[in-house]
Amino acid sequence: MPAIATTSSLNNYPRLSISSYREQLRQGKAYSIELGYSYGGKSYSYSIKLDNTACHYGNYRHWWLCPKCSKRVSVLYCAGLYVCRHCIGANYGSQLKQPIDRLFSRAEAIRRRLGWQAGIAHGNQGRPKHMHFSTYYRLINEHNKLVQKICGATMVAINKNKGRASYER
Ligand SMILES: [Zn+2]
Repeated sequence: MPAIATTSSLNNYPRLSISSYREQLRQGKAYSIELGYSYGGKSYSYSIKLDNTACHYGNYRHWWLCPKCSKRVSVLYCAGLYVCRHCIGANYGSQLKQPIDRLFSRAEAIRRRLGWQAGIAHGNQGRPKHMHFSTYYRLINEHNKLVQKICGATMVAINKNKGRASYER
């Protein structure tokens, strides 16, 4: 039985919350979202299926269906593919041994220097009072590039067409 990832280890992974698409999903049911991003120098482009449940006034609440186990969740984590916390927990040990871990370590070193909360999922937290602007911008720039390399997801399209949703390994 694989261990479920702890909160602190989950902070090491970029997260994708369905609520960040709330505005785009307001117009009704959607069946999948197409994502494009790169992770560790590899490009990914695929659809993630959605589920929806009816809520007040004819609106729908949307959920991710984990590409690996099809569980209905509101947050996915990136470890190459975006998967749910249970699936990333199962992978966590082997993830740490991969070269991508060096990118995480470097990003964490920058975060420590900036006095930011550990974990790239926590985003940018501003310039420390006594840090010179040029140092700050240099570090921010490097941090952003690392995050982009680790997993800079962008939404390509929301599919309202049921037949189009597919996930291929
Ligand atoms: Zn899963």
